[in-house]
Amino acid sequence: MTGVLYVVATPIGNLDDWSPRAVATLKAVKVIAAEDTRHSGRLMQHFDIGTPLFALHDHNEGARAEGLVARLAAGEDVALISDAGTPLISDPGYRLVAAVQAAGLQVVPVPGACAAIAALSAAGLPSDRFIFEGFLPAKANARRERLAALAQEPRTLIFYEAPHRIAECLADMADELGPERRVTLAREITKTFETIRQLPLGEMRDWVAADANQQRGESVLVLEGAPERAGAADWTEADRVLGILMAELAPRQAAALAAQITGLKKNALYERALAAKG
Ligand code: SAM
Repeated sequence: MTGVLYVVATPIGNLDDWSPRAVATLKAVKVIAAEDTRHSGRLMQHFDIGTPLFALHDHNEGARAEGLVARLAAGEDVALISDAGTPLISDPGYRLVAAVQAAGLQVVPVPGACAAIAALSAAGLPSDRFIFEGFLPAKANARRERLAALAQEPRTLIFYEAPHRIAECLADMADELGPERRVTLAREITKTFETIRQLPLGEMRDWVAADANQQRGESVLVLEGAPERAGAADWTEADRVLGILMAELAPRQAAALAAQITGLKKNALYERALAAKG
């Protein structure tokens, strides 16, 4: 019998969010690999979990993975946790999980809190398709370059940001993506000073800059995607609708109604209507 690697999410603030299954799993395994044993030790004490912890972080993960795979192969169950939330999500663990998968051993997730998903669920922005960008680069030039590269991304974007960079990050977003794009700041999720607020980027930049409290604690930014560019098929349909409307209406009225019907921009439709009229 080989062992199982359990990837166990921990709370991101409110300890009541932790599931009985997560606690039972950590009590049952032979050993827990934790990002920071002192930090996780306090959580273990609170939940009366006596399983030994050992450190697995970015700097030793590669070296430790081999030993852990050997323990699993020898039949020991192992759990992986990070400081908060779901391991591997902007946290260590990928190399270990990859090594365990490569060895043909079993990996079982024990799901729970994840700040990105909690923020998205309360952000009020489209959630049918989204991308997780993790942390933007710390250096201003690299951050702006990354934002410029993402400017046309139509899906909702989720970013993690450190408290001391949240104000400059919002300023760069407003500069690179325009002040009108909507963004939701989800700060201190599940904690006492939880704040979830949606504003256009320019207003969010000014609000956070003016209120030092909004620069404290942990934050997720959920950003509206770029407007979808109309494809050829959309314009073919728009021309058909415009043609019908222009038989009865002036170009300006026809364009306004066509914009409502197709969701395309009124000005662009008006130009098309004028061109069609010759
Ligand atoms: N693995 C974690 C997860 O599942 O969310 C994320 C770890 S990452 C090192 C830490 C970042 O997550 C913070 O800088 C912040 O952006 C976000 N975060 C974690 N807890 C949060 C909370 N309670 N409220 C808002 N953001 C949080």
